Amino acid sequence: MTALIDDYPVLVEPPEADGRFLAGAPAAWDLSTLIMDIQARGMHVEVEMERRSGGAGPTDSGMMWIEGFPVTVPTGNDVAATSPYTLRGEDEGYGVYRGEVRLASARAERRPRFYDLKTADGVPYEAIALLHLDSFASTVVQTCTYWNTSDQCTFCGIGVSLSSGRTIVKKTPEMLAEVSVAAVELDGAVDATLTTGSSKGVDRGARYVARCGQAVKEASGLPVQVQFEPPAKLDIINEVGDMGVDSVGIHIETFDPDVLARVAPGKARIGMDAYFAAWERAVDVFGYGQVSTYVILGMGEDPDLTLEGVQRAVDIGVYPFVVPLKPVAGSLMEHWPSPPRAYVEPIYRRVQAYMALKGMHSGIAKAGCARCQACSGLQSLESSSTAVPLTLTVRP
Ligand code: SF4
Repeated sequence: MTALIDDYPVLVEPPEADGRFLAGAPAAWDLSTLIMDIQARGMHVEVEMERRSGGAGPTDSGMMWIEGFPVTVPTGNDVAATSPYTLRGEDEGYGVYRGEVRLASARAERRPRFYDLKTADGVPYEAIALLHLDSFASTVVQTCTYWNTSDQCTFCGIGVSLSSGRTIVKKTPEMLAEVSVAAVELDGAVDATLTTGSSKGVDRGARYVARCGQAVKEASGLPVQVQFEPPAKLDIINEVGDMGVDSVGIHIETFDPDVLARVAPGKARIGMDAYFAAWERAVDVFGYGQVSTYVILGMGEDPDLTLEGVQRAVDIGVYPFVVPLKPVAGSLMEHWPSPPRAYVEPIYRRVQAYMALKGMHSGIAKAGCARCQACSGLQSLESSSTAVPLTLTVRP
């Protein structure tokens, strides 16, 4: 690790809530701090809003914009049950409250209109793809070679949504193309994020998800990110590029090798060097900042190893999509706690500081999780508008 990361100051933990929160402590809080705290502690919801259950990505979460920033927030689960935050309806839009104090404005998503449509064969569009805020999203193959084996990733819920009957096992390129057009026309989707379970094949599923991405892009015109495990042959990444997708996600999940071996034994066997080799090839093909990796915080990892790995990834042009663990109901980690803001905030701030030095930011990514940003707190740290103290009003 270089001095650049080591020397970045750790944010002093603001005083905790309760009475003192209203007595002046909030002045030390800016919007990004609030967003990180809400992501860690969840929120009570007093209004109707779109919520995602099961699966991967923004699972068991409500999806909203807080002061214009996209945020996925644990709602309706154990975390949210003890949260001090509440989303309330107002004359226009919504407000985020703590007790009777209004902290920020919010906008929540209605149910997407395309969810009510079906294919000619009677498959509900909602079983083919979802809308995560403004991103068209689908797991194109809802099975994984690791699932129900000792290699299954402990944080993953890919088989949970399948057994719930909410989705179908395999989406065809034609289905996805049809639904993506409706998502653009009826609900204003701005990009597509397609992922897949890992396969036994040499491409680990990359070719099929790329074919799906190609079909979506050709039909809807959306920029597309596809996500897959490092293929056994790096030239397959060039094939994915030839299919016209815009960006890729190749997800290591953690840079701590001991934690990787515990939470994702299959990925650990592929090895971290293989991830770096795949990222380097992918950056050659897709460009700086068009390749991203999930980095999950709160699985017992060493923060220094995390920061070292993030720095190495950024140095080769990879966007580290740092997120707090959101335990998926039905996954092997469903009872793990989400990490507190006091843990994630110093890491976010250091990662953001290093990315700023290297010219890496969320605006570079054309599509995918790094473009959407709702599951991470990183984007809220990029903007100077989030660095001003919150304006507080007491509910009339
Ligand atoms: S590789 Fe891991 S995270 Fe990806 S689908 Fe398979 S079990 Fe889930």
